Amino acid sequence: MSRAWHQRVDALRRAGLSYIDRSRWGEATLAQPETSPPLSEPTPPPTDQVETIKEQMMPRRAEPNRIEPADKLIQLEALRAEVSVCRKCKMLCETRTQTVFNDGTPHAELCFVGEAPGADEDATGVPFVGKAGQLLTKIIEACQLQRNEVYICNVLKCRPPNNRNPMPDEIANCRPYLDRQLDLLKPKMMVALGKFAAAHLLGETPDKVPITKLRGTIHDYRGIPFMITLHPAYLLRNPPAKRDVWEDMKEVMRRLGRPVE
Ligand code: URA
Repeated sequence: MSRAWHQRVDALRRAGLSYIDRSRWGEATLAQPETSPPLSEPTPPPTDQVETIKEQMMPRRAEPNRIEPADKLIQLEALRAEVSVCRKCKMLCETRTQTVFNDGTPHAELCFVGEAPGADEDATGVPFVGKAGQLLTKIIEACQLQRNEVYICNVLKCRPPNNRNPMPDEIANCRPYLDRQLDLLKPKMMVALGKFAAAHLLGETPDKVPITKLRGTIHDYRGIPFMITLHPAYLLRNPPAKRDVWEDMKEVMRRLGRPVE
């Protein structure tokens, strides 16, 4: 066998090709990595056709920015693992029981973004499982959805001690994690629960977000529309405001093509 032929077969293997369909390639043959019979010496394709052949035989991605579901899961799990050992905020990593990454499905169309874990979330590792979380679950169910059909995450992945507000440096440290999480998730629509989530998605500081004025408005985060609404913890203190959140959620569901009344 000629040296040139071996070089071409090697080039194809390096290009990721392990099988070549004879019908597409005249007298061409199989190029198999391990248990292959000896390669015969047909006329190899010109090197400049290798890319074209590879392209023809590889599955195509429908949308250039779409992440394949398996890649999405792998990358989200890698990010979760990275977050779980984060030590950027000295106080938070010393006082946390564990980090809190998400609940729900990575394939969700709808993503809720909250503020930070509280005591119950810190203990369980799951966001929104305390009193405010139980109210969020009721809101989700009122939208004819189950918790496991949506995605739930927070601006901060660690509990601030005594449930104090997140500090600016903590928000800045955690910002890349949520940005990467949402870039992988790519939901159709998001809901910012309260001022801290709204500030993150708007790219503002929380003091610049008049939440009661902005609630009920739709904005854009890297091409993903999001609704700003009130935090469930606020609703626990101000039950009449539930009506406003319900109006906001009806609009969200209408935009998702799943209207609720
Ligand atoms: N409040 C939040 O913002 N997030 C949680 O996970 C729990 C309460």
